[in-house]
Amino acid sequence: MTDIAVIGAGISGLVCAQRLRQAGYSVVVVEKSRGVGGRVATRRLQGTCADHGACYLQPKGELFSKFVDLWQNLQVIKVWTDIVYEFSASGGIAEPANRSPRYIAPEGMSSIAKFFTPGLEILFNQRVITINPTKENTWCLILESNEHLTAKALVVAIPAPQAGDLLTPLGANLLGAEFLKNLHSVEFNPCISVMAGFSANSQPLPYWQALTFNDHTDLAWIGFDSSKRPQSQQPHFVLQSSAGLAEQHLETPDLQPVGNYMLQKAAEDLALPWLENPEWMQIHRWRYAFPRTPLDIACLSANTSLPLVCCGDWCGGNLVAGAMVSGLAAADEIDNQLRHIIPQNLDFLDLLKGFLTNSFTTN
Ligand SMILES: Cc1cc2nc3c(=O)[nH]c(=O)nc-3n(C[C@H](O)[C@H](O)[C@H](O)COP(=O)(O)OP(=O)(O)OC[C@H]3O[C@@H](n4cnc5c(N)ncnc54)[C@H](O)[C@@H]3O)c2cc1C
Repeated sequence: MTDIAVIGAGISGLVCAQRLRQAGYSVVVVEKSRGVGGRVATRRLQGTCADHGACYLQPKGELFSKFVDLWQNLQVIKVWTDIVYEFSASGGIAEPANRSPRYIAPEGMSSIAKFFTPGLEILFNQRVITINPTKENTWCLILESNEHLTAKALVVAIPAPQAGDLLTPLGANLLGAEFLKNLHSVEFNPCISVMAGFSANSQPLPYWQALTFNDHTDLAWIGFDSSKRPQSQQPHFVLQSSAGLAEQHLETPDLQPVGNYMLQKAAEDLALPWLENPEWMQIHRWRYAFPRTPLDIACLSANTSLPLVCCGDWCGGNLVAGAMVSGLAAADEIDNQLRHIIPQNLDFLDLLKGFLTNSFTTN
């Protein structure tokens, strides 16, 4: 039994859980995978790492910009590039009209998520499969392992379609028709990420670090990922598909041919023939990568006597920065419905700063 259960240890879930924990609530986070970060994801491979989810941070909004400053001071992130080149079929590779710094974590983007975890109780490898209200006026979460967790309040910090699968069985009578309508209105685009490493002798290496494909049928983005890593022995890249290509392969069991196809397309378009012959390649399919129709609210609260609030980048949009803002809004909403113990002037950043500085200097 805990005060608050948070489903999902992505950025929104972690930020929400940390804020509630700092205010004095008991909080348990339940995460289906074996690590934190969700779509802020880094894969360790071939003696290096690659960011197959969020590729960089772009400061937006006051809170997020303060975090970016803090992480930069702690040397967790640094500027990677301030130019994301653009490729179009008609114009080839061109410089963008605007430049702005893109920040990355040399140790991998998932290290950013780890900064929200001090003091948090997180159950890993535990997927929530059913949620029920109990006679004792609590929520009961049933996990895949068949363990049960009860909580006075619930935060659902996962992509809207997954939240819909979990919450729809509770019905409109309990959750409110408007709540379910809003939840079901959010659609996501999928994406296929290809991580590929190449011979150390590959030439010519690109002069760009990051490049967006404009109006490309199959490709959306490519990053020279090894240029983020100080100790990299060989060039490696992360290539993201267009939503259209990922839609076509939502159920394709073997994605290796799709990965080869994407590399071949990039090799042709970018005039880097060696890109189609990787020494190694790994592929990840994101079924819910980017919210296509986000809600215009910071979090989505159900009309229940037992507090239940959803959050994530699909509330308000705006990627990692939006997920952070949404997680904070969900914490405040839960607090409003429970005990009102988060003071209006409590500065999340100030409180966390102590943690961040300590955990950074002791590691
Ligand atoms: C390929 C790609 C590139 C991107 N590039 C950028 C970028 O450059 N910059 C940027 O700012 N953003 C980028 N983003 C977007 C960014 O990653 C997201 O906006 C942000 O991470 C969303 O955080 P979240 O907490 O809302 O959700 P998520 O990160 O999706 O977290 C949800 C968590 O819930 C867990 N979960 C789901 N269902 C259950 C369940 N039933 N039980 C338990 N746990 C569950 C998941 O495992 C996951 O850990 C990118 C995303 C992708 C996929």
